[in-house]
Amino acid sequence: MALIVQKYGGTSVGSVERIQAVALRVQKTVEAGNSVVVVVSAMGKTTDGLVKLANDISGNPNSREMDMLLSTGEQVTIALLSMALQEIGQPAISMTGAQVGIVTEAEHSRARILHIETERVLRHIQAGKVVVVAGFQGISSRQDWEITTLGRGGSDTSAVALAAALGADFCEIYTDVPGILTTDPRLVSDAQLMREITCDEMLELASLGAKVLHPRAVEIAKNYGVPLVVRSSWTDEPGTWVTTPQNPERSLVNLELARAVDMVEFDISQARVSLLRVPDKPGVAGRLFGEISRQNVDVDLIIQSIHEGNTNDIAYTVATPILKRAEAVTLAIAPSLRNQPNSDEAEVIVEQNTAKVSIAGAGMIGRPGVAAKMFATLAEAGVNIQMISTSEVKVSCVIDVVDCDRAITALCTAFEINASPAIKATSGQKLPPVRGVALDMNQARLAIRQVPNRPGMAAKLFGLLAEYNISVDMIIQSQRCRIVEGIPRRDIAFTVARIDAENTQQKLSHAASELGWGEVVLDRAIAKVSVVGSGMVGQPGIAAKMFEALAKNQINIQMIATSEIKISCVVAQEEGVKALQVIHQAFELAGSEKFVVPV
Ligand code: ADP
Ligand code: ASP
Ligand code: MG
Repeated sequence: MALIVQKYGGTSVGSVERIQAVALRVQKTVEAGNSVVVVVSAMGKTTDGLVKLANDISGNPNSREMDMLLSTGEQVTIALLSMALQEIGQPAISMTGAQVGIVTEAEHSRARILHIETERVLRHIQAGKVVVVAGFQGISSRQDWEITTLGRGGSDTSAVALAAALGADFCEIYTDVPGILTTDPRLVSDAQLMREITCDEMLELASLGAKVLHPRAVEIAKNYGVPLVVRSSWTDEPGTWVTTPQNPERSLVNLELARAVDMVEFDISQARVSLLRVPDKPGVAGRLFGEISRQNVDVDLIIQSIHEGNTNDIAYTVATPILKRAEAVTLAIAPSLRNQPNSDEAEVIVEQNTAKVSIAGAGMIGRPGVAAKMFATLAEAGVNIQMISTSEVKVSCVIDVVDCDRAITALCTAFEINASPAIKATSGQKLPPVRGVALDMNQARLAIRQVPNRPGMAAKLFGLLAEYNISVDMIIQSQRCRIVEGIPRRDIAFTVARIDAENTQQKLSHAASELGWGEVVLDRAIAKVSVVGSGMVGQPGIAAKMFEALAKNQINIQMIATSEIKISCVVAQEEGVKALQVIHQAFELAGSEKFVVPV
């Protein structure tokens, strides 16, 4: 007999008939000899409707009252599903997050789970009942007992957290698609189903816009080794398993506040090649990295930043032994990227003595303070950051190699952790280079002009953002320095969730003028398209293929950022869906099966 946590999303419980169908599925699982805890979302688009009601009353509704309002959606579903179960003879009881004892931090609209009291749920299970729990909500601890919500899409997180706390055998996420697909089937009709995906890949995909799973749910599954499967509510197909590490030992106290950083990694054999002032037009990155991959040069990080004027900078890192080859290809191709011969465009700069230091850990998701702490630590140690690359589970900084030991010592002390050389996954693992593609249309881009090029600036900026509780996604520093008022300066660009955009711009503009930085520029009309796959490590040509697909379709790349297992490009908003489709096709992810998503 197994203990199973099943979660049913909004569409799956969108009508009385669908709730009855869910009840039958739950009963079947019980009849097969299992104990079942069910977590449900609000019916259909109820939560959106509630948000709209609040916005009709206030442009800036009070966050406590907002949680009070939004938590009602799930409460309707738990009662109706329990009734439906009782109606077919299956004993069941509904419980709110508070009744279960899902204790969260006192942070409205984005609370993290601290711990879950299991005693009441277990008592009902032992009495032979199915326990139906309201997802997405919790209660703050101490004397306040405030109702909190976990953030949109958070029922997945409730389910996986309950599975971890109860020591369930596995957690099933039932939804309106047959599992995790190569991309969103609503946007790409020939997206294909995967049998399995690693939790690291899923973490990236989820945080890059694949809303099939809430990233924090994957984070908990990874941290606690919860076996997790995404399946269709309408069929008996096996769905997609998210493979998690076996039995990582973790305390269930501070469940979602587990240590943010697990590792400090370093790689001292890195070199950096920058190409300054390349024309801002489709095809440039495609041609450069196309040629680089034809020469079999495996690049590690790639960034492209935006600029005043109509040129961009592209920089990448390679392992030192292949630097000569990388440099030769780049020098050879640079003149052909110029708009006019003999202009100062496409200047190549090579920096041999660089190192990469990274902090890694699933616990840094949505916690802007972690990257800020890394930058602050490096600044205090007097280390200048040349390049930054971020992913949901890693922040890497390229620095001067002479600073490396100092950087590692400082980071290890700051995060109370030991360091180890970065382990390069080998391509012998035979994982696909690109597992899935994701589109995020909910980001906006901000750029701060003319930030002085000296230690501490990234720390200052991201410290401010962390203070405002604004999560930053892609962070890119320009490679080019301009002397303004006698000080070398460069631009820093980054993306944030669109709802935070104006607020961020306003707050940073204020800070920027006090600090003597330049203008803070906002562009809301962007889309971010990303490819994710563990198998891309050590395999040249993946970035080139992505950039070439965009170039062939005349889609201009505004920004590029990569981490070990993902490549993201920012493009104009109106080209987002097209970009997703052509990239999906370029990696031959399409198949013959068609998945129709119910309304
Ligand atoms: P639920 O209400 O069940 O939580 P969601 O709407 O939150 O469902 O998530 C399921 C949706 O996620 C699908 O309908 C699909 O449009 C979208 N989606 C985005 N990317 C993917 C992907 N890679 N695989 C499957 N679904 C995806
Ligand atoms: N009902 C909430 C939402 O719509 C939580 C969820 O469905 O996961 O965001
Ligand atoms: Mg969801």
